[in-house]
Amino acid sequence: MLEQKVAVVTGASRGIGRAIAEKLAEEGVFVVINYRGNEEQAKQVQQTIKEQGGNAGIYGCDVSDFSACEAFFKDVIETYGRLDILVNNAGITRDGLLMKMTESDYDAVLQTNLKGTFNGIRFASRSGRIINISSVSGILGNAGQANYSASKAGVIGLTKSAARELASRGITVNAVAPGFIKTEMTEVLSEQVQNHAKSQIPLGSFGNPEDVAEAVWFLASDKAGYITGQVLNVDGGMAM
Ligand code: NDP
Repeated sequence: MLEQKVAVVTGASRGIGRAIAEKLAEEGVFVVINYRGNEEQAKQVQQTIKEQGGNAGIYGCDVSDFSACEAFFKDVIETYGRLDILVNNAGITRDGLLMKMTESDYDAVLQTNLKGTFNGIRFASRSGRIINISSVSGILGNAGQANYSASKAGVIGLTKSAARELASRGITVNAVAPGFIKTEMTEVLSEQVQNHAKSQIPLGSFGNPEDVAEAVWFLASDKAGYITGQVLNVDGGMAM
């Protein structure tokens, strides 16, 4: 059994998940970097963490797959002897207007973002801290993101129910709701959409993945032991 705390961060091969993995490792946590398809990128994150004096493993698993998640978390607990922190971060977008949205685009987003979060909680409920990445879109709604907003609003309901159920085991469950953060997910947005988004942000600019990672670390730390069932917005003031 590892003496260090062990965390699983889903979708940690890039973007926000990568920043969360690096932050947790910097704080002395052993991080399991989960990814779906891109093993090379996951290895790069592991390498960076090692170069910075931390320790991490990688594990490929599609979070939307219930039985694959069962095997994943069983393996982690058997290999490292513990699981202290779970960050359900993996997420995708398949944007489009509601009236034209295909069934497969709706299902894919719900399967990864909402069911993936459920799968993580379902098989990791030994861990003391669970943090789910929602979105400002799940709070405010967003034209062109009906599937994504539904999945992220669902993550908030799931977070609150899990917080109530798991409190008696001393497990806290919280959500972090980022606004627009500079990652590959937002890079693809047109300049017009990016400029419109900035006009809706009181602090006037997109955030960085590190801004989200700091909030996640706080909720994962011993200092947040009396906080559960909450949604912490990291959005430059978009939703208030
Ligand atoms: P990116 O697209 O940059 O990265 C997504 C990550 O999720 C990748 O590591 C990818 O791994 C992984 N992933 C996707 N699907 C699966 C799956 N089925 N199983 C396992 N891993 C998967 O996204 P961001 O970093 O921007 O977003 C991270 C989270 O933050 C998401 O939940 C997103 O919805 C949320 N968010 C992002 C915002 C933003 O502005 N960027 C705003 C609000 C919320 P691989 O490459 O190997 O497939």
